[in-house]
Amino acid sequence: MFSSLLIANRGEIAVRIARTARAMGLRTIAVFSDADRDAPHVRACDEAWPIGPAPAAESYLVAERILEVARRAGAEAIHPGYGFLSENAGFAEACATAGIAFVGPPAGAIEAMGSKAGAKALMEKAGVPLVPGYHGDDQSVERLSAAARDIGFPVLLKASAGGGGKGMRVVRGADELKAAIEGAQREGKASFGDDRLIVEKYLERPRHVEVQVFADSHGNTVHLFERDCSAQRRHQKILEEAPAPDLDPDLRREMGASAVAAAEAVGYVGAGTVEFIMDSSGSFHFMEMNTRLQVEHPVTELITGLDLVALQLRVAAGEALPFGQDDLSITGHAVEVRLYAEDPARDFMPQTGRLVHLRFPEGEGVRVDSGVEQGGVVSVHYDPMIAKVIAHGADRRQALARLAAALGRTEVVGVTTNRDFLKTLVEHPEVVAGPIDTGFVGREIDSLAPPPPAAPDGVLALAGLAEMRALAAAASARAAATGDPQSPWARADAWRLNDRAHHTLRFRQGEDEVAVDMHADRVGWRADIAGRSVSIAADDGPDGALLATIDRVRRPVRVVADRDRRTVLAEGRSWTMVLVDPLAGIDDAAEAGGRLVAPMPAKVASVAVSEGDAVKKGTTLIVLEAMKMEHTISAPADGTVAGLPVAAGDLVEEGADLVVFEADGDKPEKGA
Ligand code: ADP
Ligand code: ADP
Ligand code: MG
Repeated sequence: MFSSLLIANRGEIAVRIARTARAMGLRTIAVFSDADRDAPHVRACDEAWPIGPAPAAESYLVAERILEVARRAGAEAIHPGYGFLSENAGFAEACATAGIAFVGPPAGAIEAMGSKAGAKALMEKAGVPLVPGYHGDDQSVERLSAAARDIGFPVLLKASAGGGGKGMRVVRGADELKAAIEGAQREGKASFGDDRLIVEKYLERPRHVEVQVFADSHGNTVHLFERDCSAQRRHQKILEEAPAPDLDPDLRREMGASAVAAAEAVGYVGAGTVEFIMDSSGSFHFMEMNTRLQVEHPVTELITGLDLVALQLRVAAGEALPFGQDDLSITGHAVEVRLYAEDPARDFMPQTGRLVHLRFPEGEGVRVDSGVEQGGVVSVHYDPMIAKVIAHGADRRQALARLAAALGRTEVVGVTTNRDFLKTLVEHPEVVAGPIDTGFVGREIDSLAPPPPAAPDGVLALAGLAEMRALAAAASARAAATGDPQSPWARADAWRLNDRAHHTLRFRQGEDEVAVDMHADRVGWRADIAGRSVSIAADDGPDGALLATIDRVRRPVRVVADRDRRTVLAEGRSWTMVLVDPLAGIDDAAEAGGRLVAPMPAKVASVAVSEGDAVKKGTTLIVLEAMKMEHTISAPADGTVAGLPVAAGDLVEEGADLVVFEADGDKPEKGA
């Protein structure tokens, strides 16, 4: 075994690899971009080396720089994770040349499977069943069109070099063909630098079933059973499970044998995945082979009890697989979902921002693989995955139930996530009944991702209650500071000179604003909302949570304040609203003087003001652009633009100064 390992990746997979490598006693070496100085994967390793600026093309994708670090740090092996350099044959080759073990297959196997066209030609020879289609060299529009007509519509055009669900087009009739071919070629060229296409029969309502294979360098190849990844949106996986539901044991053996044949045909070594598409009759066809560790490998680990990263390292060090096919068996069922910073209500647009509050679930059979932490930033530079939430159970129903419950206990505040969408998905009767086809999510998208519901009264009452508690806490802090705890000004039970115990709060959700009247009573509070009443009280719960009593039922809840936003987490759901407190503006203004900074790495789209401008509170000062989304920076109070360190077109890091702002009545500090 090696004594040291460089992990050429970031995020959850780098943390995941480090965990196993450290457990095996290896010295672990991380690499990090400027954006990742404080990232969890840096701390997960024994040492961490800088490799360049935030954009992956200037850091995590620069093979020479990573090899240079490997040499200087004395790394004996490099694990590429997934993505980045993991399927780059040139990098695997360069590692070999440098005398560093690449934890992955030989460069030749990556090369062979790197093109979908080349891979299909090889698989055809190896007797692996293919999706009917064309994968020839003649790339003229005429030849591709003729192929499509021979195959019969609908057909699927795929960029031969494609991946990650990109560069694919469904064509339903001859009249769409020419434009689709040209479009797919352009897309392939732009995304992968390669405009070659393959044409496939487009299967209606198929399942995506893939087989995990493992080979050592002593001629042993086995499969570790299959995963069903049919829950997809736009050909990208959302939920993955092992084993595939309702798969006949004979079919399982047959698919496993085909996958092993596919691996053997290219001299495969290490972990790989052979992806099949299965039609409703149960016949399966090769789609592609991913020559790396897969995002969804944990479900296979949970049903086999194996550590795939440990096996990868052993195989890369030249050891033989410690088992044969007959030693392997399936225990229970495992399901994984990918928790993303994205907004299902806005066509799943990726989101960026700071993770103000973050709690991952624990519990029997629950595993969370994550590479972010509270206070960290989801930036424009990398994949916005927050975590993989994974559950194992004795059977499929138990695994799904555990996963749904775990998602309910997953708390993310600061960026919008797909959590509620995922929870709805794993609780959906058709998913629970299983299996589903790859079109299911698309067909059901309206019911799976409904517009965020208005906060119910109990939730509004909770938000109101949390506000009253915050006022009370602030008041006692003030009293402690003034040294007169008896002062009536230190009381915050809605004590008022002319109204004994009453406070009105306004919350805004989208366009709708609602008033919540909080009245103190003997045991707690009564919240009056549009003529209805909720009686509510709360005690401190563990870890900053509240133990709330609403209409006599007690349950743990949490209310997280982030600037003017309030997020209520209760009963496994979350609601975010804006607190419209007329008094808050005063405090804001007092704090508003000074610097306005970029909340995330972004591009300055436009600057709407000039130095010296007097502006009203709320005036747009600067518009930022991050992940195709615009973010407006507006005046926090009435005041003056005292300085403008940025110009339109600038790229700014998170925390960069955007505007030096002087709120009215706020004297700038001398020399500041
Ligand atoms: P897999 O085939 O392993 O399930 P996908 O097909 O969903 O993975 O994703 C394909 C590719 O997308 C990955 O190989 C990787 O290049 C990229 N990708 C997905 N998630 C991430 C991530 N968190 N960090 C970096 N790259 C990612
Ligand atoms: P990628 O390299 O982007 O992962 P794949 O060839 O693996 O591309 O296909 C991605 C997804 O597209 C599959 O999981 C499946 O849902 C869908 N798909 C691929 N080929 C077909 C096909 N011939 N018919 C129907 N759906 C397909
Ligand atoms: Mg694929």
